[in-house]
Amino acid sequence: MLLFTDIISQKIKIILLLLIFSIIGLTIYFMLQVYSIEEKEQKSNGVKYVYYNDRGGLIQSKRIPKIIDRLVNWGYKIPPTPRLIDTIIIHSSYDALGVNPYSVEGVIYEYKIYGVSPHYLIDRKGTIFRLVKDEYIAYHAGKGKMPDGRININSFSIGIELINTEKDEPTENQYLSLIELVKFLKSKYKIKYILGHNEISPEQKTDPWNFDWQKFNRMLKD
Ligand SMILES: [Zn+2]
Repeated sequence: MLLFTDIISQKIKIILLLLIFSIIGLTIYFMLQVYSIEEKEQKSNGVKYVYYNDRGGLIQSKRIPKIIDRLVNWGYKIPPTPRLIDTIIIHSSYDALGVNPYSVEGVIYEYKIYGVSPHYLIDRKGTIFRLVKDEYIAYHAGKGKMPDGRININSFSIGIELINTEKDEPTENQYLSLIELVKFLKSKYKIKYILGHNEISPEQKTDPWNFDWQKFNRMLKD
């Protein structure tokens, strides 16, 4: 040991020390980043803001979109055991009762009347609202059947609603936000299927209306 310390010069010792300290420092930094994201998620139980982090440590490569919490207290149930998510169902809805079909609050009020809810709702400007936590089973898909034959689709899927009517189509901002959200969900779960509501319930459902799947798939690849 003595010999070793004699051989290496003072400078090398300092460099080595600096290296070790920077490695420890970086490790702590990344751990804190991850922790802070988780913390933000937990704090989001209330009404307002959610996890929003553009530079998040170890999970930085998974870009996290800005999501605003607008959690509802209906239209879902808490599963008895943690659920496995492998499907995303895309929907359209609008406020058929109010003056403005694109009103976020109007759409949410309709969900309340019917006791349903998606996990996420994307308004015309592309703002993403979280209505139900991913861990919970939201009532968005109703009765339907997967291409692989499975039923009870709510139990393993995440529902995303875009605000649009049968007569129009999703806006560019809605596509952009949807892509961000889907990419984010794909980074968290092993998503096997991304389907329209009409694909699992063709006799009853026609949404998502005027949804351009070619465009969606092209954007998802970028
Ligand atoms: Zn639907």
